[in-house]
Order: sequence, then structure tokens, then C-alpha cells
Amino acid sequence: MTDFTATRDLFHLPDGVIYLDGNSLGPLPKAAAARVQRTIEQEWGEMLITGWNKAGWMEMPSRIGNRIGRLIGAEPDTVVIGDTLSIKVYQALASALEMNPNRRVILSDTGNFPSDLYMAEGLCRTLGNGYRLKTVAPDEVEAAIDETVAVTMITEVDYRTGRKHDMARLTARAHAKGAIAVWDLAHSAGAVPVDLKGAGADFAVGCTYKYLNSGPGGPAFIYVAPRHAEAARPALSGWLGHEAPFAFDLSYRPGRGIERMRVGTPPVLQMAALEASLDVWDKVEMSEIRARSIELTERFIQGVEAASPTLWLASPRNPAERGSQVSFRHPEGYAIMQALIARGVIGDFRAPDILRFGFTPLYVGEAEVDGAVAILAEVMDKALWDRPEYKVRARVT
Ligand SMILES: *Cc1c(COP(=O)(O)O)cnc(C)c1O
Repeated sequence: MTDFTATRDLFHLPDGVIYLDGNSLGPLPKAAAARVQRTIEQEWGEMLITGWNKAGWMEMPSRIGNRIGRLIGAEPDTVVIGDTLSIKVYQALASALEMNPNRRVILSDTGNFPSDLYMAEGLCRTLGNGYRLKTVAPDEVEAAIDETVAVTMITEVDYRTGRKHDMARLTARAHAKGAIAVWDLAHSAGAVPVDLKGAGADFAVGCTYKYLNSGPGGPAFIYVAPRHAEAARPALSGWLGHEAPFAFDLSYRPGRGIERMRVGTPPVLQMAALEASLDVWDKVEMSEIRARSIELTERFIQGVEAASPTLWLASPRNPAERGSQVSFRHPEGYAIMQALIARGVIGDFRAPDILRFGFTPLYVGEAEVDGAVAILAEVMDKALWDRPEYKVRARVT
């Protein structure tokens, strides 16, 4: 049994803060600070360049990849770390398109995170030759997967509404129509149980600074199904994805299996923080996290709807159809969120009108849910949000 009182103690959370934004940036695992300091002082400081061998920096992307793989139902040696999620989206798409050369359409949905759509647009422009991105409403994806689709690019959990796609079902449909399925797990990894192998996913990508708590700018991950590992050709053919980087050959030969999805020098300090964070995950069961997350989100929805009836639930009411976040709509959503943050309840705002709250059972419990419900009710009852300073948009919302 996962002990959620014990896991909370593994995180640094500032006094007086109810943190409901771990879906955007996970909080600091206490062990990460010491781990990064050790990497800086004992490894970088003392070992200098020899750290790549002596401290095992070069193996970190695949070692950490395997630890993340366990959380997303991936087979051993199918996940590697590096770069940002946007880059990993591009890599997965480029390889997947090349594996389905007679088709030209990337299918995604209008609930996808814009960066995924932008990367797809950019790739299509570079490829020319009729490649195009097609987007449909989230509930129309299944019907839109037809014989023209080369690749489906779907984010499992919608960043705005928390709506969760049925990965196994859509992957089966993609395969039945001859398409390749690329999944984005940005709001899934560490939030909900994922079974890439069971679903038969072809490629998957995700980030580590959200529910996996690697810190701002932490590297992303990419998964390639074992049946494609030796066939997928990397479009971003960097030296560390080469079969023999230190042979310094003049032309590229892809590395073994998932290693070929590496590009350049990995971010060692961020990976040190990520490894410390993943130690927390060794103590927990994803199924228990999910059960607890559903309890917390249900409690939050009931509380908010009872106390703040002018907020409209934007997330699916059925917990099986949503991830680990709850979103409400209100035309003054931005100002309401600023008023909440000023009172220590940190969520975030997504244009045009979404107040977003992430629930991470590792450090959020009933007391935080009830506290947030009460503060939100006060902000709404007394229109505490209606102040000019809460309406000035900051660069990051
Ligand atoms: C958070 C998120 C991103 C962010 O990409 P970065 O390259 O890490 O900035 C991309 N896609 C999705 C679906 C996300 O949720």
C-alpha cells in the first residue's frame, strides 16, 4: 500500500501554499536538491570530463528511460530521455511518417497542446510533397481515422479540460486503418496508469517536469515500440544517436534500438534532479495513485459545485474519462485565478476561460482540497477577484 502521508514528506512545499499546479510544474522533491549538489560538487567539480565515464553520465538517458518506462507500461530498453517534449514530438512524427510512405495526413485534435500542432505543421512544411496536419474535435478523432491517415498524433489527456482519450481503442482503430499511433503522455506519465505495450502504441513521448517533478526545463522522454526499434529512422540524427559516436565517422549510422533517438549532449544536472524524483516513484503504485486522485477530484468537483455555482465544470464528469486535473470555466477565469494565487491556492489559467487545478496525491490530500474549495468560494462570493491588478496578464499564465 502506498503511504501518502509518507510521500508528502518527500516534497518541499512552501508554507501556506495549496499547490494544485503539479500538472504544469511539479514541486521540488527534497532529495533532488542534495542530489544535484552532489552531481555538481563531487562529479562535475572533482571528476571534470571523466564524469561521463566515471559517474555514468553517458548511460543516464537510457537508465532513467527504463525507470520511466515502468510507469508507462513500456518494455525494457524502449524509452530514452533528452531534449524537450516539442523536439520529441517532432522526432516521433518524422519517423512514423517515414514508416508509412504512401500516406500524407497527420491526424490530431483541437484539444491538443499547440506546440504539438506547431511541430507537426513545421514538419509538414519541411517535407512538402502534400504532407498536411488535419485536426478534428476530440470526440471526432475515432471516426476521422481513415485510410488517408498516415499517423495519429494524440495527447492522451487534454491539457485544458483533462478529457482522457481511450488509448487502446484509438490505437486499435489506427492499426485497423493502416495508421501509426503516436501518443503524447505529457499529462499522463505519473498521473494515470498507462499501458503502452498493452495498447500496442507505436511511439510515445512525454515530459518529466509536470507530474514527474524533474524541475523547470527537465528533459522529455520518447518511446519506440520494440517492433519498430530497428526500423525507425531518426530525422534528428545527432551524434549521440549514432551507432558509434566516438568513432567520429563522417556519415550517420543509427544506434542500436532506442539509443538512436538520442540527439546531443544530455542535461546531466536536470537528469540528476529527475533521478532523485524517480526514487519517490519506487515507493508508490500507479493504480493507488489513480484511485486516490479520483477521490480527490470527485471531492473537489462536489465542493466547488456546491459552493460556487457560477463556475462551470469543463472536465468530464465521469472520472474514468478524465486525467488527474479538474477544470472550470468562467469569463473572469484569469482574475479569479490571480485572486486564488494571492491567497495561496496555486492553480493556473488557460485561455480563453479555463481555471485549471491539478491533483497529485503524492502531496495533496483532503485538507488541501477542502481548503481550496473554501478559498475559491470566498473569492467568488465576495467578488474578491474584481480588482484591476488581477486582470493584468503576466507572461506566463
Ligand atoms: C506541456 C506540454 C508540452 C510542452 O513542450 P515543451 O517542449 O516541453 O515545452 C508539449 N505538449 C504537450 C501535450 C504538453 O502538455
